[in-house]
Amino acid sequence: MGKGRGPGSGVRGPGSGDEAQPERGRRPRVAVLALQGDYEAHARALVEHGIVAHQARTVADLDGIDGLVLPGGESTTMLKLMEGTGLADRVRELAATGTPLLATCAGVILIAREVGNPPQPSLGILDVKVERNAYGRQAESTVTTLTVEDTAELGDAPLEGVFIRAPRIVAPGPAVEVLARRSADPVLVRQGRVLAATFHPELSARSAVIGLFAAMTGGRR
Ligand code: GLN
Repeated sequence: MGKGRGPGSGVRGPGSGDEAQPERGRRPRVAVLALQGDYEAHARALVEHGIVAHQARTVADLDGIDGLVLPGGESTTMLKLMEGTGLADRVRELAATGTPLLATCAGVILIAREVGNPPQPSLGILDVKVERNAYGRQAESTVTTLTVEDTAELGDAPLEGVFIRAPRIVAPGPAVEVLARRSADPVLVRQGRVLAATFHPELSARSAVIGLFAAMTGGRR
């Protein structure tokens, strides 16, 4: 397994045997869906905010969590790997009962109401339509400074957006707040306790987006 795992790092894999042990103090426990994609970068970013992050591959790995991250990667592959596992229903249930959720890039595609370019099934948790690969191919991937709509939540410092074959949010519903934009496009949105970024905050140093999510789970910014 990659670096950042193991006792002491705060990042644990399923089956490491220590999931049930209470942490010192009240450190939030956050699961990172680890079927595919850049889950390890997410886990490392969360640990910097005092969170105990573990990798989740089964429904049982989602027991007793204070938050869940659906990382970037390849949404079609993730959907295939979720088939028959019960994970889709459990993630819907967690969202419906108010467990904070952070979805990034492919994760946003997974939880959207509707997916285009090409269409594929989705969990229907976040009231947005997304167009996949809307900013071009891998070679057109880019790092850019975003326009923050809500500095009370995200602070005054420039917010970096790392875009890798990112989807575009095209039709946010009325309950969806836009927290940051790339030009006119919403790229960071929130609906209740669901935070969704079409970019990769886990790849920026100390991203305010991870801080905001950490605070939602009861951790520090
Ligand atoms: N293009 C990918 C998809 O459609 C998402 C890319 C990413 O997560 N960085 O699933």
